[in-house]
Amino acid sequence: MTSEAILRVVIVGAGFGGLNAAQALAKAHVRITVIDRKNYHTFQPLLYQVATAGLSPGEIAAPIRSILRSHKNIEVLMAEVTGFDLDRRMVKTPEADISYDYLIVAAGASHAYFGHDDWEPYAPGLKTIEDALEIRRRVLLAFELAERQAAAGETEVPLNFVVVGAGPTGVELAGTLAEISRHALAHEFRSIDPARTHILLIEGGPRVLAAYAEGLSRSAQEQLNHLGVEVRTSTVVTQIEPGAVYAGQTRLPATVVLWAAGVAASPLGKKLGATVDRAGRVLVQSDLSLPGHPEVFVIGDLAALKDEQGKMLPGVAPVAIQQGRFAAKMIREELASHTNSGSPSFAGSDARPPFHYWDKGSLATIGRAAAVAEFGRIHISGFIAWLSWLFVHILFLIGFRNRLLVFIQWAWSYVTYERGARLITGSTYLPGWTGDQHTATVASEAPQEIHTGPAK
Ligand SMILES: Cc1cc2nc3c(=O)[nH]c(=O)nc-3n(C[C@H](O)[C@H](O)[C@H](O)COP(=O)(O)OP(=O)(O)OC[C@H]3O[C@@H](n4cnc5c(N)ncnc54)[C@H](O)[C@@H]3O)c2cc1C
Repeated sequence: MTSEAILRVVIVGAGFGGLNAAQALAKAHVRITVIDRKNYHTFQPLLYQVATAGLSPGEIAAPIRSILRSHKNIEVLMAEVTGFDLDRRMVKTPEADISYDYLIVAAGASHAYFGHDDWEPYAPGLKTIEDALEIRRRVLLAFELAERQAAAGETEVPLNFVVVGAGPTGVELAGTLAEISRHALAHEFRSIDPARTHILLIEGGPRVLAAYAEGLSRSAQEQLNHLGVEVRTSTVVTQIEPGAVYAGQTRLPATVVLWAAGVAASPLGKKLGATVDRAGRVLVQSDLSLPGHPEVFVIGDLAALKDEQGKMLPGVAPVAIQQGRFAAKMIREELASHTNSGSPSFAGSDARPPFHYWDKGSLATIGRAAAVAEFGRIHISGFIAWLSWLFVHILFLIGFRNRLLVFIQWAWSYVTYERGARLITGSTYLPGWTGDQHTATVASEAPQEIHTGPAK
């Protein structure tokens, strides 16, 4: 490093963690390169709104370049990171190797099928804008195909939606599907009655929203029932095939299946060569650095770290945001100590303070005017929780334009029950829909349990 040289910080991923790290470093005397495979940042907590036609993609995503445009020391590269050379301090992309002095890896997580990747085509998960659009396509298409089949005189028209996994994403998907079918679509079809759509939420564990207090789980289940969702807990899905979900020997007909059950960290975690947990998250030091590499930080959904009580930090946006800011702070504080010549010298993890997560509370939405919230010992359910959820999500949405648009959209759809983004784009193929000869149940009936041989 010469006296003129400026240290280079490379940030992989412009999600909540990466963006916040970049912004917190923007005023420091460093050169920052943000690399992401997408040219936009996605506000994942509102993906389910795109999946259920309440919002359009542009309202929950913003170009990374535009978010960071006022920071002259930040460059943005759209590229797929494929690996690392930690000895040479290089990030690998198919086009070039990119050198760094400090590296922050914030590549997030995706959904996991517990070793059943073959289920993915029949049960899409929700992680990206593309996933949300595919779910929207399938959900809206199911209603259209059912209407066409019923209009042709068929009386046995299937409309069974099955959501697997009752964590926050599964709960909000199931609740919103109920809301759409009972309100937004209720009066628009002539041959089917969308309000009789059967929505089933399946959970392997004993309760929905397991990360919340038991009372809130109970309340969430009651609110789901009230919206018209059937909840089955302690039910493990053993097989998914086109048009059906199996729980042991029980076959549950499913016009559309949505997967909200498992999470796996980005494969980049393993490429760092460090120890990873079962979900592929990197076991980081207390200062979020990679063991043996104080110049490399791993943050957000890709990092595994326990809090002071020994509880694993959750994969939520506030953890990623706070970790991004913490890693940036460690780098800023060390800049002064780097000599003006020779290689930079990094503090070891024992010389840095440990990361501390400030938990401001958790919120989960269930549907229209239905939510649960946990702020320490204060637990709220229903309308007030939903209002808090709304306020927090509008506040943290990236970009003033998006905040305004989303606020107007929500206010409008709250009053009118309308969902403005009901477009079916792309293919008109629905897995499991066998022309107009489908053999599943009538829209008005709950899925019948058909006992078959052993689950495949
Ligand atoms: C449907 C859904 C709903 C959620 N709801 C909530 C909620 O209500 N509240 C809450 O707090 N949290 C919620 N979360 C969780 C929250 O979104 C995550 O905890 C948070 O996004 C993690 O931030 P991150 O920076 O670690 O990763 P991410 O935000 O996932 O960002 C990772 C980035 O890395 C990029 N990337 C990945 N791999 C590569 C590669 N190889 N090369 C280049 N770029 C790469 C991706 O394109 C992405 O931009 C939700 C998540 C989902 C999926």
